[in-house]
Amino acid sequence: MTYAADLHLHSSYAMATSPSITLESMASWAAVKGIDVLATADFTHPAWLAELKAKLEPLDDGLFALRARAPAAARFVLGTEVSCVYAQDGRTRRLHLLVLAPDFAAVDRLCAALAPHGKLASDGRPTLRLSAREVVAAALGADARCEVIPAHAWTPWYSVYGSKGGFDSLAEAFGDMAPHVHAIETGLSSDPSMNWRVPELDGMSIVSFSDAHSPSRMGRELTVFEGEPSYDGLRAALADGAIAYTVELHPEEGKYHYDGHRKCGVCQHPAATLQTGERCPVCGRKMTLGVLHRMEALAGRPAAVERRPDGMLSDPSGVRPPFRRLVGLETVIAEAVGRGRATKGVREIFTRLVESVGNELRVLTEAPIEAVASLAGERVADGVARSRAGDVAISPGYDGVYGTVRLWETERIMGEPSEGAPA
Ligand SMILES: [Zn+2]
Ligand SMILES: [Zn+2]
Repeated sequence: MTYAADLHLHSSYAMATSPSITLESMASWAAVKGIDVLATADFTHPAWLAELKAKLEPLDDGLFALRARAPAAARFVLGTEVSCVYAQDGRTRRLHLLVLAPDFAAVDRLCAALAPHGKLASDGRPTLRLSAREVVAAALGADARCEVIPAHAWTPWYSVYGSKGGFDSLAEAFGDMAPHVHAIETGLSSDPSMNWRVPELDGMSIVSFSDAHSPSRMGRELTVFEGEPSYDGLRAALADGAIAYTVELHPEEGKYHYDGHRKCGVCQHPAATLQTGERCPVCGRKMTLGVLHRMEALAGRPAAVERRPDGMLSDPSGVRPPFRRLVGLETVIAEAVGRGRATKGVREIFTRLVESVGNELRVLTEAPIEAVASLAGERVADGVARSRAGDVAISPGYDGVYGTVRLWETERIMGEPSEGAPA
């Protein structure tokens, strides 16, 4: 048995999120996207937690259902994200952690333990004056079944390996608590094959979630787990790497893939930075070193990945779960019809496809191309086929600027070193 999970989401109580996020809209969008299990998000926020307690009914497997919904609808798992800001070894550290909990009693104990260290009511993703190690200890103290997952583990500003406030190893970040961390989240700017290069992650589950700040972005990255869709099943899957596959954006689409300086429009491959130094070639300030740069610094081996006939990308040694790189359906339709993603025309085609095929994940991965063509026209079908084949051109993201994907252009990736340049 497999199930698709998106365990990094936010409520409307988190900064910079859409006011349209409610438990009801999350559940409806989960069905549209093909998500079976989703995080409640933000359980440390008192007002959102009160809403969770009022609206969610505990099932006997550690997951939750909306009281007003039919039993077949998406299940929730109690999950949140916290931001740790603290000093260690003379440097300021900033990193985000996802926390999962089995029941409201555990959440209450954890919130009571965290409350003295930050203002839980100020943000759905609260800032805590606690170390990564202390958060794991607090979570396990609240309930030994809690899970802590380093969020978007490579992004520069707030992550365990980030160039600005991170560490060079999980052992350094988590100390004696490191063995209790079973998984890391790739973040949008890295994908599993990049993480396979890091020896310290050999025994870890590599998971992907959306970090959506609006419901329509849910599931843009997700993890398809194997086994029982229950809280303990999920814990076991994280600990054992029981993952059927993950769904990824192209990592170049993430906001921090390349190095660069947004103000000056400077975006470059880390190979160029290694040659010219970390200063912006326009203004002379320090550039933001991206995910690829950190990966190159900490990787112990070269990249190895191969494309299977079914479009999955896999580890040639067969040890790791495979993954898919996909372009979101709205993006495919928008480029196919030459209109903005948020336009009515794009929305109509999206809805028609999803309602006929079942959900977005099925449209993107399984639906026969002829069926997509008959519902949405040849060009949209061609776009879906191109997405499945990885036949796309991308301008990589850098310093907070999202990368852009184009399906019908084959221009070279911007800033990519020419052949023969040092990697
Ligand atoms: Zn985060
Ligand atoms: Zn600059």
